[in-house]
Amino acid sequence: MEKIKKIDLHLHLDGSINKEYAEKLLNKKLTDELTIKEKCNNLKEYLDKFNLPISLLQTKENLEDFSYLLTKDLVNDNVIYAEIRFCPLFHTQKGLSEEEVIQSVLNGLKKNRQIKTNLILCMMRNLDYNQNVKIIELAYRFLKNGVVALDLAGDEEKYNNDKFVELFKLANKLNIPLTIHSGEVGDYNNILSAIKYGAKRIGHGINAIKDLKIIEEIKKNNITLEICPTSNVQTNAISKYENHPIKKLYECGVKITINTDNRTVSNITLSEEYNKLINDFNFTIQDFKLININAINSSFLDDNEKKQLLEIMNEK
Ligand SMILES: [Zn+2]
Repeated sequence: MEKIKKIDLHLHLDGSINKEYAEKLLNKKLTDELTIKEKCNNLKEYLDKFNLPISLLQTKENLEDFSYLLTKDLVNDNVIYAEIRFCPLFHTQKGLSEEEVIQSVLNGLKKNRQIKTNLILCMMRNLDYNQNVKIIELAYRFLKNGVVALDLAGDEEKYNNDKFVELFKLANKLNIPLTIHSGEVGDYNNILSAIKYGAKRIGHGINAIKDLKIIEEIKKNNITLEICPTSNVQTNAISKYENHPIKKLYECGVKITINTDNRTVSNITLSEEYNKLINDFNFTIQDFKLININAINSSFLDDNEKKQLLEIMNEK
């Protein structure tokens, strides 16, 4: 699986920090501070694993170093393109401006010429309106200069998509592409509203399996699902790996992509995820090829960049 060229469109920077480097900075061995063992009792337990990474990602140097190390981890997994997401407002605790935060991450990513990367900025469901507008403004400022889209992340059960209509309208007005975490643990109607509000991709979207009408809507609107199977089991969105709807969605003709979500918190690489999918669902190498081509076509790159990546994907 390591040899397959891969695309990762859904991974969070703070959930994917290099563990060895975190240990070096903290000068101690980390056991389960950063990583979920198998399953969480609740979403809070999962989200608590982000506290330590966020506390480490507060200086220019650390933001740059962890971003660079993430690209190295991605190259080891033979990922040729990744869209990495994070919320810049979480990294200003030691006085950095949001612009400095984004620039430091970009500096780290760009240092590695072996992989192409871009950023998606996350608006958060628990932030207030003005804070999220600030994130939209930042995305606009860096658009096509390292940032390619906006996301909305956070507790989907507590705050549904309808609460954020004005933000989506503003993003649409500014022509900033959208992906929205929807239908992960929350109401599957969030998937419909995400489509209505202009999302071209949906983070997870696995609850679509509960209603054929939603699957039809996803297909009709040419929406791509960013699926992260291991993470879905850990957060209890899915009870066990073998119950994951990924194969059913794929067989229904839904455009799916396979992603890690959080490489460190979920303790997963794409190579490992592919192996699990082969074992539990009989996915084939040919399926993975097709899914990675889907991923390139539904990335937030321009047509020319997509063409270049497709060529790399098809090289021997
Ligand atoms: Zn996510």
